[in-house]
Amino acid sequence: MPSISQKILSIPKDELSMVRQQGLDMEAKGRRIIHMERGEPNFPTPRGIIDAIYRAGLDGRTHYPDMQGEPALREALAEKITKKNGIPTSPDEVVVTLGGMHGLYCLFQTILEPGDEVLILAPYWLSTSKLVYLSDNGQARFMEFYTRVAGGGYPAEAFQADLAGAVTPRTKAIYVNTPNNPTGICLGQDYLQVIADIAIQRDIFVVSDEAYEDILFDGAEHISIGSMDGMLDRTLSVFTFSKSYAMTGLRLGYVRASADVARAMVYGPVIYTSNGIPTAIQYGGVQALKAHNNDIAAMRRAYEERRDILYKGLLQVKGLNPIRPGGAFYMFVEAGKWGKGLDLVGQFMDAGVAIAPGSAFGAAFERWVRFSLANSNDEVTEAVDLLTAYFGRI
Ligand code: PLP
Repeated sequence: MPSISQKILSIPKDELSMVRQQGLDMEAKGRRIIHMERGEPNFPTPRGIIDAIYRAGLDGRTHYPDMQGEPALREALAEKITKKNGIPTSPDEVVVTLGGMHGLYCLFQTILEPGDEVLILAPYWLSTSKLVYLSDNGQARFMEFYTRVAGGGYPAEAFQADLAGAVTPRTKAIYVNTPNNPTGICLGQDYLQVIADIAIQRDIFVVSDEAYEDILFDGAEHISIGSMDGMLDRTLSVFTFSKSYAMTGLRLGYVRASADVARAMVYGPVIYTSNGIPTAIQYGGVQALKAHNNDIAAMRRAYEERRDILYKGLLQVKGLNPIRPGGAFYMFVEAGKWGKGLDLVGQFMDAGVAIAPGSAFGAAFERWVRFSLANSNDEVTEAVDLLTAYFGRI
């Protein structure tokens, strides 16, 4: 048989899917497992969004879309990005994508040249390093950041020195994600200003992943780095409908970039990976922006309640040290007392709780695990009880 590309075969295996499969196998043998490994909102997509997609279909919006995104959606997004994110934007600076993943993929393909590096602040969403790897030209470098912020005692000046040292002449972009998956850290003006200053001084892009911009707790406000002085065209902002509107399966996202980058992205990777984004789904996006922002508030409150139950509960479990998330819907927990890597994950599974291994979010985090808050309050409470029984109470 002819062979498969070595490059594709050498993409590291998706650890999350492995854990999920392990959990499903145990369930098949009759064991109850609480699934806290996946970042999938457990809310239905709001009915009005589905109705709008259905109506668009009946209205004949089933043919090739505008390659950059349907004008009605890009106009609505330009207004949203201008008002809500504080980034002055016109429709030709918006590119509609198949979710945030596709937005990032197309961006890295668009900006990276042979030998270029992307500096990824870690821990990071597990797909990011693979997306850079797939860009052919790019190399990922990592710098521990969010866990240091969470630990306290990491002033912006120290970050400034670390970041300046980590940027090399090959760095083409810094990847930042706030609120962060997996830690839930929401970056304030101080840290973002450090990133902005260095990006300007060293003339590099910032890829700003804002997938969780709407999932914020304790009344916190989201800051978009693209709104800061001097950052307008240097920032490539990636957004998605997936988390805000519980639309993960509809695959709708968008990127805000300068018109030049947007055009290059559309006439390169967007066309040759998708030939445009499903037309009717884009009208679901128009409806989401118009009428479903109250649904976001309700989901946010539900996640915050679960955050409180899980955080309070895990603080009582021996050897587990959770970071209190300010946003997103995850909790990153240091658990080195009990081991590392897949062995550590195996112990949680033994207790009856499937979680994601910390190593999926960066090689330095093998003594950590990530919980997802996309479970009911009852399941979160049950998970805390199971873990307390297994590891012991403080
Ligand atoms: N960015 C981050 C930080 C994420 O956690 C995710 C999904 O989990 C995405 C982007 C991509 O989301 P999607 O492709 O579903 O829009």
